[in-house]
Order: sequence, then structure tokens, then C-alpha cells
Amino acid sequence: ATPISITTAAGRGAQAGVLIKDAEALERMARVDTIIVDKTGTLTHGKPELTNAVAFSSFVSDDVLRFAAALELGSEHPLAEAIVEGARGRRLELPKADHFEAMTGKGVQGAVEGRQVALGNTAMMELLNIDTAEIEGSMDALRVEGKTAMFVALDGALAGVVAVADPIKPTTAGAIRDLHDLGLRVIMATGDNQRTAEAVARTLGIDEVRADVLPEDKKALVEELQATGRRVAMAGDGVNDAPALASADVGIAMGTGADVAVESAGITLLGGDLVGIVRARKLAKATLRNIK
Ligand code: ADP
Ligand code: MG
Repeated sequence: ATPISITTAAGRGAQAGVLIKDAEALERMARVDTIIVDKTGTLTHGKPELTNAVAFSSFVSDDVLRFAAALELGSEHPLAEAIVEGARGRRLELPKADHFEAMTGKGVQGAVEGRQVALGNTAMMELLNIDTAEIEGSMDALRVEGKTAMFVALDGALAGVVAVADPIKPTTAGAIRDLHDLGLRVIMATGDNQRTAEAVARTLGIDEVRADVLPEDKKALVEELQATGRRVAMAGDGVNDAPALASADVGIAMGTGADVAVESAGITLLGGDLVGIVRARKLAKATLRNIK
């Protein structure tokens, strides 16, 4: 490609849904060697669907799903939507929950029909002093399929498991190949567990996986990589991603997300997928050839 000016790059970018803050952001985008991307909503559709609802011993599987879904009515997490829709699909009546509480990156809890209900990952169960060791094996069987498996606890005891799968976007695999061709190492950071994360990463040829990452740990991940000499672009969409976006050499806000993410970013993508990052990188390279 022929070298182009920054103004031309900004114009072309805007037409393709890539908003560039200033010349510095573009220049830095040409020089990064590593990109960190979120799994949910970036690599995947972010619209997971319920695949399993299993009850242990004395519990009934419809109960497990019904209590879990009743609680998730209070959550805006994509996982919550999948569980609620899955329950409605099975024509379950969902009662209202009280004392709803969401623990970021872990799960949710509250009271349903006078019972204490909790739902989430291993860390969520740890928070409630519920031992999951005995069923981690069956959870792993779901995770290696790329599913997100969550524990359901009723009145402080493990009652069952629900699992959802979030399909990978059709554009993701090609975009990762392009990012590799453009010289970038691709790291997936996710709050999801190691096995689910690895199953997704393997399918896509992702170079490195950081699982069980709490939103507030993403900034530390950026800084850790920078300390080893890497130049890091970080893509994110949430309010919690803002510190990491600001620490990165280039912050890339997925435009489907929060305003504060956009404010912290050098580049904003109007679309929510990796193709925008490929475009940004190509534009940046074409522009830098002109500046040098
Ligand atoms: P990601 O980084 O993939 O977007 P999150 O950080 O939002 O994931 O969540 C991490 C994990 O915490 C989820 O995989 C799930 O196990 C648990 N979790 C978070 N929110 C909820 C919720 N509303 N209901 C059930 N589990 C949840
Ligand atoms: Mg997320």
C-alpha cells in the first residue's frame, strides 16, 4: 500500500468505523507488538445460550434452573440473559428475588422464595465457603467443550450446575490470522476459567491465555507485559476496563461499551469485533511509513 497522511487515515478510518483520537494514537498503533482482547463479546457473540442444567442428589433440575434464573433477572451480564431465556424456554415461572447482589467477575446471590441462592464460578463459591472440589471434575468436562459452567448453591449447599455456550463470531478466526500476519501477538484475557478459555483459544489459534482475570487485574496485566518490553494494545468495553485502556500503549474501546472506556482510549471501534482492530493496524502501518 502507498503511504498516506494522518488526515487521510483518520478519514478512511472513520468511514470504516475506526475512530482515531490523534496522530499519537495512530503512531503507537503501528508500533505495538501485542494485543490483549476480551473473550466475551469481542471474540464471541456475547450472547450465550443455556446448554445444561443439572441438579445434584436431592435437588430437582427445574428447581436449580428456576432459582438461578430468578436471581439472574437482577443481572445485566450476558450469562444472566442466557440463563433467564433458557428457563423461560422451559416455561418455568420466575419468582422475584430479594437482596440481590452481584459480585463482579464471580457471580450473583440473593433470596428467592425464602431460600438463599448463589450462582457463579469457583471464586464465588469460595466467597461463600462452599467446597467445590468434588465436582470440579464434572465441571471440567463441560469447560473443555468451551462452555461456561456455573455452580448453583441453595441455602449454602451445592444444588447443581448450569452451563452456557457463547458461540464464536464468524469473523474472529480470520481476524486473528490477519493480526498474526500483521505481526501481532494475540493474548486473550477473560474472567472465565482456564479450561473454557483454553478451549476457545485453541480453536482460534490465540497465542496466550490469561483466565480468571478480574476486571481490576487487567491494568496489572498490561503493566506486566510492558515491563517485559512489550508494546501493548488493549481492547475493552467496560467501565472496569478504563484503567487498563489508559495504561496500555494504545487503548482500543469497543464502541458498543461504556462512555468512560471511550474516553480512556486512543482508538474507538464503532463495531464490536476484531476486524476493526485489523483495520486500525493496517491504517496505522500505512500512515507510519509516511511519517518516518
Ligand atoms: P468475561 O471476562 O469473560 O467477560 P466476567 O469477568 O464478566 O467474564 O465473569 C467471570 C466469571 O464470573 C463468569 O465466567 C462466571 O462464571 C462468573 N459470573 C460473572 N457474572 C455472573 C452472573 N451474573 N451470573 C453467573 N456467573 C457470573
Ligand atoms: Mg466481559
